[in-house]
Amino acid sequence: MRFLSSLALAFFVGKTYATYRDFGIPVSTATVQVQAFNVVNVTFVNGPEASLIGPVLPGRGSVPFPNYAFLVTHKNSTRIVWDLGLRADTANYAPSIAGLFTAGIITVQPGAKGMTDLLTQGGVPLSSINQVIWSHAHFDHVGDMSKFPSTTQLVIGAETNTATFPQNSGASLLASDFANRTVTKIDFSKATLKFGSLKAIDYFGDGSFYLVDTPGHFPGHMSALARVTPTSFVYLGSDTYHNAAEIRPRPAFQQNFPCPAHLLAEAKTAISTDFFWSPKTTDGAFDVVSRADPLMIASDLPTSLTADPLTAGISLAKVAAFDADPDFFVVVAHDLSLRESLPYFPKTLNSWQTSRLKQNTVWNFVDPTNPAFLLSPL
Ligand SMILES: [Zn+2]
Repeated sequence: MRFLSSLALAFFVGKTYATYRDFGIPVSTATVQVQAFNVVNVTFVNGPEASLIGPVLPGRGSVPFPNYAFLVTHKNSTRIVWDLGLRADTANYAPSIAGLFTAGIITVQPGAKGMTDLLTQGGVPLSSINQVIWSHAHFDHVGDMSKFPSTTQLVIGAETNTATFPQNSGASLLASDFANRTVTKIDFSKATLKFGSLKAIDYFGDGSFYLVDTPGHFPGHMSALARVTPTSFVYLGSDTYHNAAEIRPRPAFQQNFPCPAHLLAEAKTAISTDFFWSPKTTDGAFDVVSRADPLMIASDLPTSLTADPLTAGISLAKVAAFDADPDFFVVVAHDLSLRESLPYFPKTLNSWQTSRLKQNTVWNFVDPTNPAFLLSPL
């Protein structure tokens, strides 16, 4: 009888990912240590000059964003830095980028430091960093490579536009970003692995850290899958999305991570039914459970910072399968809903699963008291 009822449940539920093995990820006991930094907090004017996410509800045009970067340490003591965040001296960006700050489109919190300062102050000498990997070459991920010794290699996606200022007047990168170091390009056309529907490369060759092809946001955009225990992973999602409402809620996600009752009740009146709807919503009472699509999207306006919104949306839908699975904790570079909850360096993210970090945070985006909440007019 019990067998029959579980069979009936499986039939009803259909195909969902049960464990990391269902994604085609090989078994391995090799792990890496992942440590998070919030390099800087910024305020971004999500408006007519540059846009990231939509819809922009009245009074919600000015959006705070954190800027995460990660120290990844392999058992053989190889140290990788995944993204550098913003450089602290924003006036020294190429003019096309520095203008975003002088125009007030991005405001950096006073006293901001760069990732290189945070590493050094944390007792991690820059000379101990073997490789810096840029998830992509947007200015808020490339930091200031000139601070690293020439022994630190730079790893970038093959499609990265490596034009630099001043040789190219409109370029966003600087010659100093590439000078005097080995630059390795990751070419996913040669990838032999596929996780879910995403091409992947085994970075160390032992299953501890994979680079994952997630095109669309910007040329050369990559994610990474870090194995932090033999059976659990941190998915470094880069700029696959910027607000958690772009990836959630979806049916498989809701099945594995049901919204806590108190947040369901809060969301009912907090989420504006003038702007959001679902099959069981009524005027003034939003129903989260019957909502089958994410509530927000990456901006597809002409001023969108996402280069190819259509392709980015496909990458996002593929990453959503990982987000729905209990073996993966997805953290993207600017997810404000996680800011108060992430364990930061010198702590590690390795015990996210036993500490229930995912269960405790994935619905923060519908919590009107969380700073990431954007689902009602202000
Ligand atoms: Zn970014």
